Amino acid sequence: MKQEAPRYRRIILKISGEVFCLPSGLGLAREPLMRIAGEIADVAQMGVQVGVVVGGGNFLRGANFAQELGIDRSTADYMGMLATVLNALALQEALHELGRPTRVQSALPVPRVCESFDRHRCLRHLERGRVVVLAAGTGNPHVTTDSGASIRAIELKADALLKGTKVDGVYDDDPARNPAARLLGRVTYEQVVNQRLRVMDIGAAEMCEQFGLPVIVFNLFKPGTLRRVVLGEPVGTHMGAV
Ligand code: UDP
Repeated sequence: MKQEAPRYRRIILKISGEVFCLPSGLGLAREPLMRIAGEIADVAQMGVQVGVVVGGGNFLRGANFAQELGIDRSTADYMGMLATVLNALALQEALHELGRPTRVQSALPVPRVCESFDRHRCLRHLERGRVVVLAAGTGNPHVTTDSGASIRAIELKADALLKGTKVDGVYDDDPARNPAARLLGRVTYEQVVNQRLRVMDIGAAEMCEQFGLPVIVFNLFKPGTLRRVVLGEPVGTHMGAV
């Protein structure tokens, strides 16, 4: 059987930490972890080079955590970055279990457990068909892993940044509160920035605009959707210049 040709040669996939836990839960659970690893392994198997930027919100988000605990925001952000390392290590194990060679590279050095981010080394892994899980976002506080994802996508010359979420894409209103909310097939960078559409952090969206990086928001929970996005099917919401 002829294999369909992927549209992208290299992608950065951004996934929030909450995709790894059971609904309403915290931390990590095996079922979602293995399911998401399966989706990633599937597109890597198609020959697409895959870098995955993982969030840490299933453990903590710096801004909330600093407030709840009354601790310094920068410290809370470093804790959040370390949480992404936990997710990255779990995802690496899951991908290895599925037979997909994987490396973790962290923006905060944790040399006993993973490599530190090194652009050239990362590119070499990708070219050799290894999935690279990129942990600790940018390595700096006061931003989130959305910024890490856009920076990595640009510096690694990815063809697109794919943002896997729990919903089908970007809506013109909150679908949880307004059942008439419409899914938008396309949005411009300007719309996202000016109308504060909830696609990604504004700073990250601005960077995508500056470098003309296409972003596709899609439902990671619908099996096979990542594959469909990679094949160039019109699913989810595409963010671009027009
Ligand atoms: N974080 C940070 N700098 C970064 C990336 C992440 O300070 O470059 C911290 C920040 O506190 C953030 C937390 O790590 O809230 C977890 O990341 P994020 O909120 O992006 O996780 P997600 O919501 O995607 O699971």
